[in-house]
Amino acid sequence: MIRRFQHFINGHSTPPNSGEWIDSINPATGAVWAQIARGNKADVDLAVEAALTASQQPDWRDSAANRSEILHGIADRLDSEHKQLIEIEINDNGKRIREVAAQMAGLGGWYRHFALALAKMEVEELTLDLEGVSAHLELIPYGVIGAITAWNSPLMIAAWKVAPALAGGNAVIIKPSEMASASTVLFAEVLSDVVPDGLINVVTGYGDEVGAEIVDADAVKKVSFTGSEIGGSKVATTAAKHVKPSTLELGGKSPQIVFADADLESAINGVMSGIFLSNGQSCVAGSRLIIHDEIRGAFVERLKEKLDGLHFGNPLREDTDIGPIANEAQFDKILSMVDRARQEGATIAAGGSKKVVPGFENGFFMEPTILENVSPYAEIWRKEVFGPVLCVHSFSNKEEAITLANDSDYGLAAGIWTTDEGFASEIASKIDSGTVYINHYRSVSACAPVGGIKKSGYGRELGPNAIRDFMQEKVIWNGKVGVPDPFAR
Ligand code: NAD
Repeated sequence: MIRRFQHFINGHSTPPNSGEWIDSINPATGAVWAQIARGNKADVDLAVEAALTASQQPDWRDSAANRSEILHGIADRLDSEHKQLIEIEINDNGKRIREVAAQMAGLGGWYRHFALALAKMEVEELTLDLEGVSAHLELIPYGVIGAITAWNSPLMIAAWKVAPALAGGNAVIIKPSEMASASTVLFAEVLSDVVPDGLINVVTGYGDEVGAEIVDADAVKKVSFTGSEIGGSKVATTAAKHVKPSTLELGGKSPQIVFADADLESAINGVMSGIFLSNGQSCVAGSRLIIHDEIRGAFVERLKEKLDGLHFGNPLREDTDIGPIANEAQFDKILSMVDRARQEGATIAAGGSKKVVPGFENGFFMEPTILENVSPYAEIWRKEVFGPVLCVHSFSNKEEAITLANDSDYGLAAGIWTTDEGFASEIASKIDSGTVYINHYRSVSACAPVGGIKKSGYGRELGPNAIRDFMQEKVIWNGKVGVPDPFAR
């Protein structure tokens, strides 16, 4: 019997209005393991109505103390119950258990962070350049927030939106990716007796059927989107039509710049983690290795040695290093991009093909791939692959390295590897990117904003303004002295 995941609306599991279901494929086996509800406008309308009602309750909207308490309740529940979410998410997206377990163990922490941050928010008195009046700033919730997420880390991406949105006094409608929805549905169910009805709703289904309806709904006042450039552009277009703000967390083609004086073992580990963790299916994947020509040959050899020792297999096993690509469409896309790269003159230094894993012959496994002789005009150098494909290009001086790094439509993350701290800061200031890592890669913290420039999107998640980003500013002016007659002569 295949498990079915319904929508979660107004505190209850809710069957799809259409009566239709979408198969969820386990990418390790290629077999259907579950079904998710295929949502439509009627389901979205139900969720919008529930969210609107919940967001207007005075004990939610106007009581930061109450909201903080509920967020602490969510955090505590996730601390105790997160383990049941791990296998569900892996069945959907094939990410290996060591990575998913770590993300799930940290899930409660995101909600606790914003519970504490909310408790510290104060009414802000404004310092004015006027006499006879005072003013202070009030922050008011938007009301209903649309949170649209991608399949690579569904619950962590959702946490970055849901936790600050709830802290800001809003209700949310989450639309997880149709490729990996189950964990988000279960997450809402696990919290059902901790969160008042209607504050967290999950409507599953296709982007152009459910996601588009959420963005188009009048009562949804802000949309936070994580996904592809194409999806983000559609969301922003519809949001603009309604004059509602959107935040877009999109893709990247992040450079890892390795200078000749780098601590090579650290740089090798950092480059490996940047592109081969999560099979490169990470928005910050460090997919372009820009390396000093003196060390290129030895560096690539060392990367190949590291890849040789990796163990492919069941993502649910602790000893697996490389699991499957998350879904067949992504798998086909990666292989065809590698093929086109070959045709454009790239040479394969490692990998490049499908990997047949005994016991998982129908799974979507792919060899981690390193490409050399990649032209900076080639598709594989310029377009996001969202897979385990590292392109290598060497440089002979820092100006060339900076030019190569910045010659991209994207600007999400970058890595710099050198033992000279002053030089690292100089290079970091010249890189066009929302995040620059020096001598490490991938740190993320609720205290630091995440987001991109150029086609990697706009707006930020996390960081000190995260709650404010889900609220609107309202100024209250107070007259301190009597008002003079405006027409007095
Ligand atoms: P996608 O754009 O196909 O889908 C993302 C979400 O948007 C899904 O829930 C999808 O159903 C929905 N969607 C699609 N079309 C829509 C529409 N017209 N209106 C509303 N919603 C719509 O992206 P994906 O393949 O799921 O995710 C991979 C992409 O996400 C990559 O480009 C990756 O870099 C990016 N990503 C970015 C970050 C970040 O923080 N910057 C994090 C993870 C993934």
